[in-house]
Amino acid sequence: MKSHYQVLIVGAGPVGLLLACRLKKNGIDVVVVEKRSSRSTHSKALSMNAASLALLHSLGVVERFKQSGKEISDISIYWDQQRISHVDYRQLNSCYQHILAIPQPETERLLEEYFVELGGEIRRSATLNAIDIGSNGINASLADGGILTCDYLVGCDGSHSIVRDFAGITFSGFDYGIDFYLFDAQVSWQGKRDEVHYFVDDQGFIIVIPLVDGNHRFVLRCPREDDSLPSQAEYQSVLSRYIPQPVVIERVVWESKSQFYNRLASQYRVGNIFLAGDACHLFSPIGGLGMNTGFQDAWNLAWKLTAVIRQRQPDDLLDTYSEERRNMAAVLRDSTDINTRFIARIDRDNEKTHYWLPRFSNRLRARTLHPQLFSGLAQRYIEPSLIYEGKRLTGKYLPYLTLIQQENRVNSYDIVDGENYHLIVYGENNKQRLNTTLINYYLPIYFVEVNGFDKKIEFQSGEYLLVRPDGFVAIHENWETLEAVVHYFEKNKIRNSL
Ligand SMILES: Cc1cc2nc3c(=O)[nH]c(=O)nc-3n(C[C@H](O)[C@H](O)[C@H](O)COP(=O)(O)OP(=O)(O)OC[C@H]3O[C@@H](n4cnc5c(N)ncnc54)[C@H](O)[C@@H]3O)c2cc1C
Repeated sequence: MKSHYQVLIVGAGPVGLLLACRLKKNGIDVVVVEKRSSRSTHSKALSMNAASLALLHSLGVVERFKQSGKEISDISIYWDQQRISHVDYRQLNSCYQHILAIPQPETERLLEEYFVELGGEIRRSATLNAIDIGSNGINASLADGGILTCDYLVGCDGSHSIVRDFAGITFSGFDYGIDFYLFDAQVSWQGKRDEVHYFVDDQGFIIVIPLVDGNHRFVLRCPREDDSLPSQAEYQSVLSRYIPQPVVIERVVWESKSQFYNRLASQYRVGNIFLAGDACHLFSPIGGLGMNTGFQDAWNLAWKLTAVIRQRQPDDLLDTYSEERRNMAAVLRDSTDINTRFIARIDRDNEKTHYWLPRFSNRLRARTLHPQLFSGLAQRYIEPSLIYEGKRLTGKYLPYLTLIQQENRVNSYDIVDGENYHLIVYGENNKQRLNTTLINYYLPIYFVEVNGFDKKIEFQSGEYLLVRPDGFVAIHENWETLEAVVHYFEKNKIRNSL
């Protein structure tokens, strides 16, 4: 049996599996070890955001996910049973103007099936016990006595990560010290069945999310004396208190309790050992960012590992993984903390909230900002190593555009391949200059189809976007500064594979 791999991933949760799929698709020799003998059935992450759907689109598997989930474009927020705000995802500049409500076991099933279709190998009942650095790479000792060796090891082994411990990485933060309850139920209710609802008051909250099978997921705070789960009657009484329309629980089909945490790893890389997902950041599930953030880690790391393994860029590219993803997680950790304290009514300041909340949440700015934030599409890299200072789209995920390349029409999400840089040009002037300036860089060039252009996008004629292999914009500039692309390629020693 094979015992050496280029990359060994510990953990077949959603993050390890997405990383495995991207690496395998890039032709990297990768294996996943997972301590569970079969897939988890624990329904945790439910809301997949537009930024994650864009990654699955680029991987070529998004249609499978759409078939197993429910698309939701509206969120209604209630304060004291009054609807005070409506968030509409249809204003997003993406072909995914919604969240997809899909239970985590389905996400894991679909990713695992795809990985196996690509020829990928998952070793189940394989618990990582120890790691040491040997002469031919990293030695990973398994509980059954087996040893695998690899050039790079990625700990996607969740919040109690053993990889993190072996790498000596600290995981500081705090626990909220509050239990939140989650349950899926069949209910009779006149409320809108295709919206997410947040019902908040001075004492607490309920979040209601419709599921693809017709049931609803409820997330609530329900202070209790002991460790037991609430009875159906207790759930019913909380629902009746918060929800303005009559609602009756007919059957609870699944329930769980969760502590909410707020933790961040001190670093994401030690030598050739990396962390991704819950192993390096742990947010409260309010806002649904845990798995979605882990997906972005996996995407970022897959590109960089591929480039270094294929010797298209030097090893220091891998330092930018920690730099970019840890900074992003720190921002999200802080914003999730603010949202959690607000929604769960922790450290509440009643007078202030009563005054500003209803007015604030209906403001146009709040209504346009919320879909951007929750979709993940507003996230922006600012670290200077791989992002140049430039115009508005610099550092953000590329906008959804119809593009023309050699008379073929493609959409911008399709060009993201996890391996290569691409150039998008608005305006067809100076083709000659483009070709002569960039001739040595094997850079595919696309032109924006002006008819298919959404005027809301902050991208104008005479400008270009240099798009990284992960789909984020490295440079958004004017034509006159085309030499910045040359400088970027030279400085970072980039070789495209095309
Ligand atoms: C109640 C709840 C609701 C949530 N809702 C959302 C949501 O709506 N949206 C969202 O984005 N996120 C949500 N999250 C967060 C989300 O569930 C996590 O962020 C996600 O599971 C992290 O995935 P992961 O692959 O990093 O880790 P995990 O899912 O924890 O997977 C780690 C894997 O590693 C394996 N493993 C561990 N140790 C070893 C070892 N030594 N050897 C081999 N294998 C090992 C484990 O068995 C497991 O399969 C929610 C979380 C909770 C608790």
